[in-house]
Amino acid sequence: MSTTISKLSELESIKVNSNFLRGTIVESLQDSASAALAKDDAQIVKFHGFYEYDDRDTREERRRQLLEPDYQFMIRARVPGGVCTPQQWLALDDIARKWANGTIRLTTRQAFQFHGILKHELKASIRAINDSLLDTIAACGDVNRNVMCTPLPEASDIHRQVFAAARSLSDHLTPHTTAYHEIWLVDEEGRNKVAATPDREPIYGPDYLPRKFKIAFAIPPRNDVDVFAHDLGFIAIAGTDGLAGFNVTVGGGMGATHGDPATYPRLAELLGFCAPDQVEEVAEAIVSIQRDYGDRSNRTHARLKYPLDDHSLEWLHAQMEQRLGYRLPADRPFEFSHNGDRYGWQQTTDGLWHLGLFLENGRIADVGGARQLSGLRAIAEVHKGEFRLTPNQNVIVSCVDAPDRAHIDHLVQAHGLDSYLHSSPLRLHSMACVGFPSCGSSMAESERYLPEFISRIEALLLEHDLKDQAITIRMTGCPNGCARPGLAEIGIVGKGPGLYQLYLGAAFNGTRLNRKVRESVHEDEILVLLGELFTDFRSMAKPDETFGNFVLHSGILQDGVEEAVI
Ligand code: SF4
Repeated sequence: MSTTISKLSELESIKVNSNFLRGTIVESLQDSASAALAKDDAQIVKFHGFYEYDDRDTREERRRQLLEPDYQFMIRARVPGGVCTPQQWLALDDIARKWANGTIRLTTRQAFQFHGILKHELKASIRAINDSLLDTIAACGDVNRNVMCTPLPEASDIHRQVFAAARSLSDHLTPHTTAYHEIWLVDEEGRNKVAATPDREPIYGPDYLPRKFKIAFAIPPRNDVDVFAHDLGFIAIAGTDGLAGFNVTVGGGMGATHGDPATYPRLAELLGFCAPDQVEEVAEAIVSIQRDYGDRSNRTHARLKYPLDDHSLEWLHAQMEQRLGYRLPADRPFEFSHNGDRYGWQQTTDGLWHLGLFLENGRIADVGGARQLSGLRAIAEVHKGEFRLTPNQNVIVSCVDAPDRAHIDHLVQAHGLDSYLHSSPLRLHSMACVGFPSCGSSMAESERYLPEFISRIEALLLEHDLKDQAITIRMTGCPNGCARPGLAEIGIVGKGPGLYQLYLGAAFNGTRLNRKVRESVHEDEILVLLGELFTDFRSMAKPDETFGNFVLHSGILQDGVEEAVI
């Protein structure tokens, strides 16, 4: 059960004392003396879907001038399963232009992020997101976050069923507190008020979870969601008449803390198989185990992967049996081919067309020659289908009728959204987290730096006659793992300004973690090592061998690697 009261982390008492996530947020918003929220409120608002941060680029200068840090807010809009309408896209584009920094950021978990929002603009921004029939509650915080789903499998009927399961589970696990509605959706005239009812959280309880909880639905052969990186995963298994059910995975997580060997990235394990109508009860049982056994004394050691390692998979089965009254049967065979996105036009079994567009690191902006923000707005104004956010920070203009393709193509080309046609396979398989200047945890550049670093690796690949080689590469500004660097064939994790840890050897399909090969290195040292490996890869790799598999067999990885058992 939960750790004893005396050992609880500070955030545990903040949660319990917040009166179901109210805290003093209303008072904090009204306090015009500071651009920040009260300290405890800055923690509670994460459950409402946003973070307070200060601009890291100006922090030192403002400190020298004895000015308050430049406090701003990042708001995250949940998009369960990654599907939104053109009307929703237009509403979010309005928010980006009106209150945020004129850009939209697609996250690695199929959500939208807005940066640079000021305290007095929070309420209007969040209300506008809700007016578009999306929301921000539980986009961050110690609760189940945005539920992910493979956005575009070949079979549209399977997607419909799996997507419906993801949406339904997302609703089932959304916090019940009315604080969100009360604080953000009731306007100055008191409109939108709901009758006051006693708050209760039947799944989470008043102290919510010990840490964030992440769920993904994968549809083989695509593992674009990186299902083994999640606390809980559902792998769709097709039967003769559509969806037969799901293999259930538990205990994944990418985060770690530098210098703390008690924390580590971990792949999820297969737990068994469940029918589609068992998804909610299975998920609720797993969430309740994390609620009861997750470490509430140490937040860096609080994800489900740690109690699972402290006990065993058999222990988890026993816990499940206690809560469900039955044991999950054995998992069923499946195969994953890759964990990246596909670009360009594809057709699904219902005859509709889908256009996958590459948006480097998920940042949508009008900069230089490319006017991607305006281009996607122009597409949203005429598009009759859907937008689907991918787990690799890209977008699919989805469900297009054949006669409409030409006009969409014209808009794509006119706004510089066609970079997928002339980007290298390395770049098309890249991801970076936000990092500087807007993430408070960042230790090194990531989003702003990865594009130019990739250009240098592209030059190396060209030199070695490997320019068409697809290699997954991911960079994060700290070891929290937001861009899932542990599952990249080249993983680069920030350690300090200009300094990174280098990881190599993950599988191309997201079923094997990479391993650290360098502790604190600059770009030049990474390029030298990659150059040596590319030389060997070019001359010694077997036909169709991926770079990660080659590195695994090259002897450079000192320790064993963790592979998913499939
Ligand atoms: Fe911030 Fe670290 Fe996540 Fe990057 S990985 S966005 S630096 S918390």
